Amino acid sequence: MSREKYFIETWGCQMNLHDSERMAGILAGMGFEPALRADEADLILLNSCAVRDKAEQKVYTRLGELRMLKRKRPDLLIGLCGCVAQLEGASLLKKQGRGVDILIGPRGIPDLPKRIREARRVGKSIDLSYRKDAVLYEPEEVLHGTFPKAFVNVMEGCNMNCAFCIIPRTRGREIYRPADKILEEIRLLANDRFLEVELLGQTVNAYRDGKCRLSDLLERIHSIDGIQRIRFTTSHPLLMNRRLMDSIRDLPKVCSYLHLPVQSGSNSILKSMQRGYSREVYREKIDYLRKDREISIGTDIIVGFPGESDRDHDDTLSLISAIGFDIIYSFKFSSRPGTIAAEMPDPVPENVKSRRLQELQALQVVIQRERNLKLIGRNLEVLVTGRSRKSVEELSGRSECHRVVNFTGPDTLLGHLAPVVVQGAGVHHLSGKWLPETGSA
Ligand code: SF4
Repeated sequence: MSREKYFIETWGCQMNLHDSERMAGILAGMGFEPALRADEADLILLNSCAVRDKAEQKVYTRLGELRMLKRKRPDLLIGLCGCVAQLEGASLLKKQGRGVDILIGPRGIPDLPKRIREARRVGKSIDLSYRKDAVLYEPEEVLHGTFPKAFVNVMEGCNMNCAFCIIPRTRGREIYRPADKILEEIRLLANDRFLEVELLGQTVNAYRDGKCRLSDLLERIHSIDGIQRIRFTTSHPLLMNRRLMDSIRDLPKVCSYLHLPVQSGSNSILKSMQRGYSREVYREKIDYLRKDREISIGTDIIVGFPGESDRDHDDTLSLISAIGFDIIYSFKFSSRPGTIAAEMPDPVPENVKSRRLQELQALQVVIQRERNLKLIGRNLEVLVTGRSRKSVEELSGRSECHRVVNFTGPDTLLGHLAPVVVQGAGVHHLSGKWLPETGSA
């Protein structure tokens, strides 16, 4: 008898990607196998993102398409998971014809088998509770799909209250995975020849388990043989303390790249956003981080937050110039119902948001190219993960400082660290030459 098949579609951040890996692991444990295409599956799960309105609308469009498929195959089970499920929840189920059989929020993953059985038995199954044990899972439950790098969840939820953000409502308040389970999972990954781990949390530097903080966890992971690189994301600037910054300086396996979302360079906007720090405090932290180790910095910036004036926008541009970010993920403000910002007066017109975004991105292109050009001639270690998007002849991977590096080399380098000398630099990637004499593959 052939096994049942599943298909998972994932939107959004690494947390969602990793949640999908957990669901895949649970389904494999139930005897399911992955389908190559949605229309071959017996169970389709949409792991949704609610951070921006656009992402949410895409999920609804996809649900409409799947409804057509379900008309032809009434036995097909469709599950909506993730942040849209948590937010829209019951109201979505009530809407006729959406064709959703299973509805679970990010914390409903452990009970996925129960939900599937219930949906088969009674037609629908729903779990939108904020369960506190959602991170108490066994390492074997995760089907890591990004070899030789693995995402490892260390916590769930967020205790901050940023005015623009819906995540505390979708993922709940912080809960922390026990350090022993995290270390057990990473030891297993090392045995399976994974070389890099990226610790995940919405505010990962809020992590704690008893007296163990993120800096202690980094030290303990650092001593695991086989693991060559450690990353962690996403950090909140307010929680980036000296002890953690010293760990980044002192632990060579911790990568020389940090993602630290600043969101705005204007103090008045930072205050309205309820971010809890000023541009001066943010800069001091970056200066401290860069004092004794060369650290690349990435950030997120929102343009057009309610009340943002041209002067506020200029403050953001001046902060960008002063810091020289290595990468910026920039977005126009998108109002999310249920957030503090959604009730704020003084919206910024769409055309002004677009202009500011263009200005910001044009500035960043110049800075990014300059910073990348400075890497020409440098030897970088690249974790080779696949082929270049530009040419299948070339291999591709990330340097420790998080640059995409494309180069020519043998397939045996896939899944390994390869030394590459940088010979060319664009805005979004570097190109280089493999140095076989020092190669390890
Ligand atoms: S720190 Fe702020 S932006 Fe980040 S998840 Fe929490 S509320 Fe959202």
